[in-house]
Amino acid sequence: MKKPAVFLDRDGTINKQMGYINHLSRFVLIKGVSKAIKILNENGFLAIVLTNQSGVARGYFPIDLVYQINEYLSEELEKENARIDGVFFCPHYPKGSLLEYCFECDCRKPRTGLIRQACSAFDIDMKRSYMVGDRHTDIEFAHHCGMEGVLVKTGYGVGEVEYILPGREIQPAYIADDLQDAVKWILNKEKIKV
Ligand SMILES: [Mg+2]
Ligand SMILES: [Zn+2]
Repeated sequence: MKKPAVFLDRDGTINKQMGYINHLSRFVLIKGVSKAIKILNENGFLAIVLTNQSGVARGYFPIDLVYQINEYLSEELEKENARIDGVFFCPHYPKGSLLEYCFECDCRKPRTGLIRQACSAFDIDMKRSYMVGDRHTDIEFAHHCGMEGVLVKTGYGVGEVEYILPGREIQPAYIADDLQDAVKWILNKEKIKV
């Protein structure tokens, strides 16, 4: 059976924005994130992370660190009985330094490759799915995928609201304080009372 999904950006949405997360010690969860993800789990939404990690192509950190962080995130969420169903990431960047990852890919957000990867792994009801992120590129990505995008004011969000959103054609459906607020808005929109 098809399930709706809430797609989540990683840096600045789930964990604190600290430039490139080039070490596990720089991965710090934002307050309330486990609770928000648990609410998605309990209300029949898949929680799927879609993240650009161009630091791999740039040679800032090894691809293994991305997997290590995924594992750490799962462990941290498990402590609060919350669960991420899948993680899809783009390690590419055309002007990087690690040649095998240096090309114009189709999976760097706002391009839509990551959604195709997610949809081939899960049976997703795209009409009832949402994207949550802290950058305008996340909102553009949502738009390209035919979803509503929610911008969170964590990470780069406050600056994006102030300096990037004005004058842009593509706008978020909602501007949330954080992931918890975003999830509340989504469930309310889907008429699921929390
Ligand atoms: Mg982000
Ligand atoms: Zn890519």
